[in-house]
Amino acid sequence: MKNLSIRFKITLWFTIILVFTVFCTYVIVFSVNRQLILKTVRDELIRTVEDNVDEVEYYKSIGNIDLHEVDYYMLFRDGYLEIDDDFLGCVNEVYTSLYNENAVLLYGENPISRQTADTGFLDAKIQRLMVHNTLYYVFDRRLTSEGLEGLWLRGIVSENQGMREMSSITRLLLLFLPSYVTVSVIGGYFFAKRTLRPIQEILESVRKIGISGDLKKRIDLGKGKDELHQLAAGFNEMFQRLDDAFEAERRFTSDVSHELRTPVSVIKTQCEIVLEEPRSVEEYERALHTIQGQSRKMSRLISDMLDFTRLQMRAESYVCEAVDLSEIVREICFDMSLIRDKDITLDYEAEDDVRIWGNRKLLSRLLVNLINNAYRYGREGGYISVGLKQEKEYVRLSVSDNGIGIANEEQSKIFHRFYQVDHSRSGNGMGLGLAMVSEIVQFHGGEIRVESEPGKGSTFMVFLKK
Ligand code: ADP
Repeated sequence: MKNLSIRFKITLWFTIILVFTVFCTYVIVFSVNRQLILKTVRDELIRTVEDNVDEVEYYKSIGNIDLHEVDYYMLFRDGYLEIDDDFLGCVNEVYTSLYNENAVLLYGENPISRQTADTGFLDAKIQRLMVHNTLYYVFDRRLTSEGLEGLWLRGIVSENQGMREMSSITRLLLLFLPSYVTVSVIGGYFFAKRTLRPIQEILESVRKIGISGDLKKRIDLGKGKDELHQLAAGFNEMFQRLDDAFEAERRFTSDVSHELRTPVSVIKTQCEIVLEEPRSVEEYERALHTIQGQSRKMSRLISDMLDFTRLQMRAESYVCEAVDLSEIVREICFDMSLIRDKDITLDYEAEDDVRIWGNRKLLSRLLVNLINNAYRYGREGGYISVGLKQEKEYVRLSVSDNGIGIANEEQSKIFHRFYQVDHSRSGNGMGLGLAMVSEIVQFHGGEIRVESEPGKGSTFMVFLKK
């Protein structure tokens, strides 16, 4: 069963249901009809016999008989027995016959006279008789008019009479229902095939993408909103995300190797130079200092990259808790105000008891990076001011400086990994500080904005959910 196609399974299921329904319909229709038809047959028998009761008369003298309306007459007792020509001897296969008190047939036809010879008369009651596997209904009426006492009318009809009508209905049903089932099954099969064709297309597209590894390819089912189109759209979204992830991965690898290439080549060159020929102690020392500086840079880069990647790929490893942001801001600002690089002063104003749900280590890193940048790109004797405020639904953390500022067109790019506006002014920076800040803000479901004017300074504003 598992190996069968969905199309086949659907068709099989509906065929079974359909055949079952048709069979039930057939049984119900047949039995209801049978009851109805047999009742009609019995009613017809009673009516015919009752009608015939008035058509049998007794006359004392032949002169009283209207010979124009007579079908049959005979000497009977002291007079004449007369049967009107309206007497229905056989109509709709209902046979009526006249019997005397000794059950001797006087008039009419009885198709099973031998078998009914022993069947006693029962007034106004239907009796059933099985003859040669056929059910017969027998209905008797005692004649009570003057002179006719002791005579009986006996009506007989066989069940076959009803069954013949029945079989014409059955024949119709037998002919119609199988054709109905066949048409429905064939129609259903092709309908299922047509409806499920997109699944085949999705399957082929996914296979092709899998074989070629080209995540830029998409499943194209044309326009539509049904479940299969939604499934295809879901797949396409997934391919897009995978493509983005692979792209990010590619960029990451190329960025890292690019950033590492410079310090590695500096170290290599320094080694080559000092090993070329004997050097003075000072020259060795200079070379070793350079190598030390470059290896520190590499180690910082690797550690920054690892932190950054961890936040991007395994954000769940950072646990969140209720964090007192006021305390963090005060502690970090106090420590960093001691740096006094370029004679820059650092002021801070933090509202009390500002608490958010977050990761203490990451939030500290965010503030440190912003303040570091403010020092790095600040002016001689300038200032940095840090503020922490509670708004209605969020918390606002800002870091302002009156440093070199950032040109408008650069402001959207500075959060990209390894982006540096002016390489020569970044000093020890490697273009990862703001990318990390942006990731931390995203991790906390917040937002970051920058307002800056070249030559005047910059303000970085972080909005975090309370
Ligand atoms: P970097 O290591 O170069 O500082 P960042 O990611 O921290 O890398 O910053 C990216 C770029 O944004 C920097 O190269 C710098 O040009 C600019 N920048 C960041 N902060 C400031 C600031 N406070 N004032 C002026 N420019 C800034």
